[in-house]
Amino acid sequence: MTKWVYTFGDGAAEGRAGDKNLLGGKGANLAEMCSLGLPVPPGFTITTEACNWYYANGNAYPDSLAADVDAALGHIGNLTGRSFGDPEKLLLVSVRSGARASMPGMMDTVLNLGLNDETVEALAKDSGDPRFAYDSYRRFIQMYSDVVMGLDHEVFEEILEDRKATLGYELDTELSAAEWQAVIALYKAKVEEELGKPFPQDPREQLWGAIGAVFSSWMNARAITYRRLHDIPEAWGTAVNVQAMVFGNMGDTSATGVAFTRNPSTGEKALYGEFLVNAQGEDVVAGIRTPKNITEKARIAAGSDKPSMQKLMPDAFASFVTISDKLEKHYRDMQDLEFTIERGKLWMLQTRSGKRTAKAALKMAVEMAAEGLITKEEAVARIDPASLDQLLHPTIDPKAERNVIGIGLPASPGAATGEIVFSSEDAEDLKGQGRKAILVRVETSPEDIHGMHAAEGILTTRGGMTSHAAVVARGMGKPCVSGAGSLRVDHRTGTLIAMGATFRKGDVITIDGSNGQVLKGAVQMLRPELSGDFAAIMEWADAVRRMKVRTNAETPADARMARSFGAEGIGLCRTEHMFFDGARIVAMREMILADTEADRRMALDKLLPMQRSDFLELFEIMAGLPVTIRLLDPPLHEFLPKTEEEIAEVAAAMNVSADKLRQRTEALHEFNPMLGHRGCRLAVSYPEIAEMQARAIFEAAVEAGRKSGKLVVPEIMVPLVGIVKELEFVKARIDAVASSVMKETGVTIEYLSGTMIELPRAAIRANVIAESAEFFSFGTNDLTQTTFGISRDDASSFLEVYRQKGIIEQDPFVSLDIEGVGELVRMAAEKGRATRPDIKLGICGEHGGDPASIHFCEEVGLDYVSCSPYRLPIARLAAAQAAIKGR
Ligand code: PEP
Ligand code: MG
Repeated sequence: MTKWVYTFGDGAAEGRAGDKNLLGGKGANLAEMCSLGLPVPPGFTITTEACNWYYANGNAYPDSLAADVDAALGHIGNLTGRSFGDPEKLLLVSVRSGARASMPGMMDTVLNLGLNDETVEALAKDSGDPRFAYDSYRRFIQMYSDVVMGLDHEVFEEILEDRKATLGYELDTELSAAEWQAVIALYKAKVEEELGKPFPQDPREQLWGAIGAVFSSWMNARAITYRRLHDIPEAWGTAVNVQAMVFGNMGDTSATGVAFTRNPSTGEKALYGEFLVNAQGEDVVAGIRTPKNITEKARIAAGSDKPSMQKLMPDAFASFVTISDKLEKHYRDMQDLEFTIERGKLWMLQTRSGKRTAKAALKMAVEMAAEGLITKEEAVARIDPASLDQLLHPTIDPKAERNVIGIGLPASPGAATGEIVFSSEDAEDLKGQGRKAILVRVETSPEDIHGMHAAEGILTTRGGMTSHAAVVARGMGKPCVSGAGSLRVDHRTGTLIAMGATFRKGDVITIDGSNGQVLKGAVQMLRPELSGDFAAIMEWADAVRRMKVRTNAETPADARMARSFGAEGIGLCRTEHMFFDGARIVAMREMILADTEADRRMALDKLLPMQRSDFLELFEIMAGLPVTIRLLDPPLHEFLPKTEEEIAEVAAAMNVSADKLRQRTEALHEFNPMLGHRGCRLAVSYPEIAEMQARAIFEAAVEAGRKSGKLVVPEIMVPLVGIVKELEFVKARIDAVASSVMKETGVTIEYLSGTMIELPRAAIRANVIAESAEFFSFGTNDLTQTTFGISRDDASSFLEVYRQKGIIEQDPFVSLDIEGVGELVRMAAEKGRATRPDIKLGICGEHGGDPASIHFCEEVGLDYVSCSPYRLPIARLAAAQAAIKGR
């Protein structure tokens, strides 16, 4: 029989940390903490399998579940000396979701479950604190009505705010027991009025309502969005954790908090967290009250005059420090902890590996390796390659003038500039128009995920470092300033008031997530230095990686930047990109639009010296590292003159009439330029183009060799080959030019010629093509386009729909479609090697910078990946992780 329920408590547990798939992250770690003898309120976990069963069976529960839950409640009762539903020996529980991967703020929680009109009196008596009892009951009504019965918590907030205003109070803590009783009566009346039925009084009915709500929350819109953004499969399901309640709101010796064993923003090795006296867990995360520091050190650093937990509750603090250390050592990683102190006694409610910024991840990994907690390879394996993107975020130039209009908490590092928007919808709209937004809110909620994603940065006026905005922004790598209390957002008027000035939607501001500043206007930014911990991890990664990492670059600036990011050569120089600007585009257009070979040669003569000096510079920057230059592959439409002005300009240069030129442009118009007269097809029609380029490459190589005294071995790449004869035809021209240049210069030139594999036919015929090609570079952009028959320029409009409808998991232009396109790559690699065992194999499509695709490249045994300069660190790390995994 399937075991649906796992119990834990009092130093023992049926599950372990390794059971995350079954018990969810929270459940597995609660079990582990119990087994370690830590103080954890006893409880039980209903498995993710039960959740999947629930969905597979029309939202029903397995037959034996009710009996299992009863038995587990009995288990809690035995350990606590209490009994669920019995006012004489009152047992209250919390019900929390807990999926395999943490989904902060995505799923729902119910606290104080088991309270009703009768048991609340028992709680008042038991605790000797009626005020606490009624406060707990009203919280329960509010949470349960929201999470389980779908009544928005704001209707309760309104009632409470009304009461407080009438009574002249500011804080919830000012309400007396009797005043809470009055609020409860209003709450209950509201539930009945809104839902047409009374608030449930039967604890068992409450419990099953909550269990059902947790399961249902797996399919709520927030959870679905979060899963989509984080590639979490729907099939994982969520577990439900039911635990005996412990109370952080039992007066001034009680508290609740969250903490990290190291600073999740900077990585510093120091306990870091926040707590609230006389509060329940959700108060901290919800950002409703601004919490206080846990340690004295942090309090002083923050310049706060509110006492720290260390000062206020020294005993509980000391136990907490011991437990944090123990947990970090046990899990060998930074832990994210939740705790409650009930009348001076510490209880642990959660531990998990904490989310962290990329900067913190690097620092922690390097320091943990130095401390001997983990090995260097583990340090390398721990960094999420995609997160390195965060480190490539701009920071504010220290020399820039800062017009500070407000200050909040440095919740997520990096700086961002954009137009103010007050809603997630506006953030998305702006992004759609290619504009940059800063999402400004009082506080964010899980409904804002899409807006946070679309915005460049997030600014909130309320909430702490662990508020929703802060946690989610850090996870996304977005700059965030939270709790900027001196700013006022007025949603009614759509304004942000800062230092007496009024800002409106569309006004530009800058936020500095590294120090919490909010600045007026746009500010000069800097790209960060990649040194210190970053360099250490890169060095360790380079030591274990097998594949080389090259860059796609054609400008000297990109090539230099790529070298500073560790490029080991150029994997793709797209020569057509060298002609976009200034006088060059005119010469390029002249060449394309020329009617006769003679005219074309004239235009090519203008292009030759430009090309030669470009290549010379690239060879010099790359200083002997391999450089792969691809012959012209212009999708023609990108180069044709479009405006009348452009036509006139080219006509003048070619000395023909604008009319004639317009006719020629029209004649060259293609219905499907991506599948048109491009790539090697152009070189077959007009071999003089390939000849000019080959000449420029060889002359530059000779010159670079002469200057450096070292041999430069260019790699010439022919694009869009599908038929071996195409390659043979172009290669014959390249070889002929090489002979001429050798004769003219008297210098022996070494070079490789090869092809891109970017058409299915090329992959199928790779064994034959390898007879002529000394290397293959997989052009997976075109290979994806042609394998799927999906235009890479038009795909985004419908691929997102495909993703949402579950037809594809990921955009195949972003992450390689391993089972389809990947199969062609694998086959071509094998066929290529069969013909030419030492054939050089690389990839230069966008996938060369995508971690999952890089893993695949390692598996297939490619020699290198090539990607844009800013993705190089990601590629180096991903290649190292792939090598470690492949061992
Ligand atoms: C490719 O097709 O993958 C490729 C690298 O070439 P381009 O993107 O220039 O077509
Ligand atoms: Mg291509």
